[in-house]
Amino acid sequence: MTTTQLSSTKKAIITGAASGIGYATAQLFIEQGFAVGLIDADQSRLETISKDFKRDGHDCYYRSVDVSDETSLKKAIDALADSLEGLDILFSNAGINGTWAPIETLTIDEWDRTLNTNLRSTFLCTKFAIPHMKEKGGSIIITSSINGTRIFNNFGASAYSASKAGQVAFTKMAALELARYNIRVNAICPGAIDTAINEKTTYSDELKEVEIKVEFPEGDRPLKNETGTSEQVAQSVLFLATDASANISGTELYVDGAESLL
Ligand code: NAD
Repeated sequence: MTTTQLSSTKKAIITGAASGIGYATAQLFIEQGFAVGLIDADQSRLETISKDFKRDGHDCYYRSVDVSDETSLKKAIDALADSLEGLDILFSNAGINGTWAPIETLTIDEWDRTLNTNLRSTFLCTKFAIPHMKEKGGSIIITSSINGTRIFNNFGASAYSASKAGQVAFTKMAALELARYNIRVNAICPGAIDTAINEKTTYSDELKEVEIKVEFPEGDRPLKNETGTSEQVAQSVLFLATDASANISGTELYVDGAESLL
């Protein structure tokens, strides 16, 4: 395969691209012939992924930065948009579960870390992508969660849920504001997806002492797959990224096998 003609291809920046949903989306975008700019804190994974994509002749660039850091994120988005020679799609996806703890003991630092990584980063990514998109229009997709709007039974997840709800509200405001530039903005709300995110979550000891029981009907989930996959989420991101969803903006798409309706 030969390197694509940048002028005629879709150009996408993906945050959180080194793992899980972001990586699956990068793979799918590459399969579609898109040129991609990858952002993540994990430099060595980005190097490996980028080498793999490039070896197969695809256009791939990357920057390793903390998405909550204003200065380095702006530099990264500007540099990637320059390398890509434009920007059609922004996938603001990097996120963490952070520490799950009762509000009484959740530290302010942990609250800030979760809100900054998940919500501040979405604001920053969008803000820094607009100058690269406003002339031609484009699509911004934001990874929220069913925890942001429908599921509030994860005791200890106040910071995470607040950040994810904030992302949905931000999506709607951004969709309204950016319609004049023909930029669509939508959120994806995944249910439980089989990624590394849960291994990176800190659960406070107090949670073990709290008896919060939520009864689910027998069988737990309405669809057969126990947990969703990153590849399934990526297909929805692709839908929102392209003209297949041309008249959809300011909405949230649940990719949860109806889990949030139980
Ligand atoms: P993941 O841990 O596999 O991937 C997240 C990626 O984001 C990692 O590569 C990580 O290095 C990167 N990242 C984290 N903090 C960063 C920072 N400050 N700067 C730069 N990069 C950073 O997790 P995932 O499940 O693929 O999560 C992706 C998104 O999906 C998150 O926003 C998460 O909240 C959301 N989500 C996940 C699930 C799930 O069950 N996995 C459900 C709902 C929503």
